[in-house]
Amino acid sequence: MPAPEPVPQPVPSDPAARAGAFLTVDLAAVVANWTQLRDRVAPAECSAVVKADAYGLGVARVVPALAAAGCRTFVVAQFEEALAVRRALEPVAPDAQVFSLGGLPAGCEGDFIANRILPVLNHLGEIAAWGAFAALRGGALPAVIHIDTGMNRLGLGPDELDALAAEPARLAGIDVRYWMTHLACADEFDNPMTGAQLDRFRSALARLPKAKASFANSSGIFHGPDHHFDLARPGCALYGVNPTPHLPNPMRGTVRLDARLLQVRNCTPAMTVGYGAAHAVTGPARIATIGVGYADGYLRALGGKGQVFVDGVAAPIVGRISMDLITIDVSGLPEQVAHAGRMVELIGPSRPVDRVAAEGGTIGYEILTSLGRRYHRVYLGG
Ligand SMILES: *Cc1c(COP(=O)(O)O)cnc(C)c1O
Repeated sequence: MPAPEPVPQPVPSDPAARAGAFLTVDLAAVVANWTQLRDRVAPAECSAVVKADAYGLGVARVVPALAAAGCRTFVVAQFEEALAVRRALEPVAPDAQVFSLGGLPAGCEGDFIANRILPVLNHLGEIAAWGAFAALRGGALPAVIHIDTGMNRLGLGPDELDALAAEPARLAGIDVRYWMTHLACADEFDNPMTGAQLDRFRSALARLPKAKASFANSSGIFHGPDHHFDLARPGCALYGVNPTPHLPNPMRGTVRLDARLLQVRNCTPAMTVGYGAAHAVTGPARIATIGVGYADGYLRALGGKGQVFVDGVAAPIVGRISMDLITIDVSGLPEQVAHAGRMVELIGPSRPVDRVAAEGGTIGYEILTSLGRRYHRVYLGG
């Protein structure tokens, strides 16, 4: 019998060729933003807040890049996030410190010790538990202690502060690395709340055993050196959100979102586009569809609002945002520009994160932390 003919095998294409949308994260811009803030707060130390997967950009890539630039303190919200940061730090800066803002879950003290994660102790119960664990082990254990100065979410409230100031022995066995607080209105530069919180923090520090202090988030840094204390905690500014909304953005943009036009069609008056027939075409129009939707974090609230850019030329978003698709009106663009396969910019230099957020009735933080998992991610620099 003759040998069977070899079956031709399909050649797999490049994932980038198959992708409909690309998220480009500029790690060099993240590092440049951190370096700018580091220089601004010196001689105070500058940490990096990398909660929520580094505000959606990716802890596994952002943390090593910042550690290589010299960042030695990383802040997250939850224990599991802290573990991911530890893993990312291992090859670059195993000595760096990691704080978990969300407190000390009961019975998990050993996990913090084993992974060298500093709990941020938010109430007297957590202080007692950490102290008791230290006594069991013998030897002091490091922690950050959060004093509430006006947020009323986490941290020692006024009564708890009084109790601690009256009985500092409650801190036995605890090596207080920092006293910290968090600002409620730092992005509103004429809001008296920031000054009131500064006064409350200073008077709390005066009543407590001496240790380093941490006060400012991104916007707090821009209130001046008396807001820097020993450690600043910027998050959003690292990722390009404007920490000074009343002024031009001093930070570099760090993400770009580009998508391919999947299809371009001609519509005539009285035709409607998308779910709910929410957009009615009023004249002859060319409507293009791109493969990004609310399942990718492109908020449904952005339906019918804002624009995308094709070669720097604006094309309005029309109709509702679907789970996987967005429709845009490209009637104003030449056919040889707006054709299937063409890339358009949804977020980037022509359309910064803060503008997309404003159009969607939200803040840049939410746009970044919603960035989807389906994008073909490309990391530059770092
Ligand atoms: C999220 C957070 C920050 C960072 O805030 P940005 O406004 O993103 O700079 C700092 N400190 C605490 C306690 C936080 O929860």
